[in-house]
Amino acid sequence: MIEKTLVLLKPDAVQRGLMGRIITRFEDAGFKMVGMKMVWVEKEFAKKHYSAHVEKSFYPGLETMITEGPVLAMVIEGLHAVETVRKIVGPTEPKSALPGTIRADFAHHSYEYTDKQGKAIKNLIHASGNIEEAKQEVALWFKPEELHSYKTVHEVHVF
Ligand code: AMP
Repeated sequence: MIEKTLVLLKPDAVQRGLMGRIITRFEDAGFKMVGMKMVWVEKEFAKKHYSAHVEKSFYPGLETMITEGPVLAMVIEGLHAVETVRKIVGPTEPKSALPGTIRADFAHHSYEYTDKQGKAIKNLIHASGNIEEAKQEVALWFKPEELHSYKTVHEVHVF
């Protein structure tokens, strides 16, 4: 049940100075950061990460958005990390996200607006969608030696 999941703080989160406040949400929930690095994504790498979306109409805007500045890539570990991190993040469209989620509390973009503009929705953050995707994405973004194993106090109090 202890899982690893990939989280990206996208260029909009980095440029808006929200990295610290977003990381705090995961740390407050007891999750452990086991890998972290800043990456300025190349277009070819964006196509690998978003391989499921390359053929979609919004892909050009998505590629522009993910390559317009550095991202903070993180591997977050914990109990049911994949599902729970997604819950803390909220749904893809910030307009539909419930207050208390990262996407609702720090953004408000809508599909209605981005569809008209031909842009990707600015939703600050990416989190792996399921356990299989998490395994693939962690392996795509991080070498094994970039992931760390250590104990937090939560392992004493939660597990
Ligand atoms: P996902 O793999 O679900 O994280 O989707 C990748 C990213 O593409 C999302 O986080 C959004 O930034 C963007 N995106 C997904 N669906 C749409 C859409 N219908 N219109 C615009 N951008 C989208």
